Amino acid sequence: MSAAADDSILSAGRVAPWLEQMVAALRGEGETDVPCGECVACCSSRQFVHVEPDEHAALAHIPEEVRFPAPGLPAGHVVLGYDDRGRCPMLGERGCTIYAHRPRACRVYDCRMFLATGVEPDRDQPAIVRQVRRWRFEPETADDTAVLVALRSVAAVLDDPACYPGDRLPSRASQRAAIAVGLHEIGRGGVPATPAAVRVELTRRSS
Ligand code: SF4
Repeated sequence: MSAAADDSILSAGRVAPWLEQMVAALRGEGETDVPCGECVACCSSRQFVHVEPDEHAALAHIPEEVRFPAPGLPAGHVVLGYDDRGRCPMLGERGCTIYAHRPRACRVYDCRMFLATGVEPDRDQPAIVRQVRRWRFEPETADDTAVLVALRSVAAVLDDPACYPGDRLPSRASQRAAIAVGLHEIGRGGVPATPAAVRVELTRRSS
């Protein structure tokens, strides 16, 4: 992986079309299309990759010895761990060795969500921090500006436990960024998002 040392600027495209694609991916209606180049930051940042029981193609390509039962989830849900360098066991010297069959979690991960939402990546993932600093969205249209305002309005309240059913704050920054993407409509219309509005929507979606 050579991009870890590369601090050159990368175009992240326009934010409004990006959001449309990201929301669809999070709904299971597609996948993200990230111009990663040689970057493997997300594959080498001490992340547990969740694989669901219906992901037959991924499971068929992941050796049993690198799968572990997913904590707190029913039998059949597994996670991939990481080695002492933080690397996914399926990551080879030239990238993902099962790319065509990679898990759903990998297909919807897009580190541009940190740039879009303003959520800071976790400090224990310096390669992702570095990569996020390289992205720049292209010049904004009025629609793009509205999207950024909405995303950042929701993200700004997500450190408040009152947003979450049971007051359980998600431990990872990527979870909060994904929530901001999923709930961006709450921040639309010029009215700042509130923890109460976020909680109502998260409760509705989990019921
Ligand atoms: S399965 Fe492939 S894409 Fe997913 S984290 Fe591992 S190496 Fe990266």
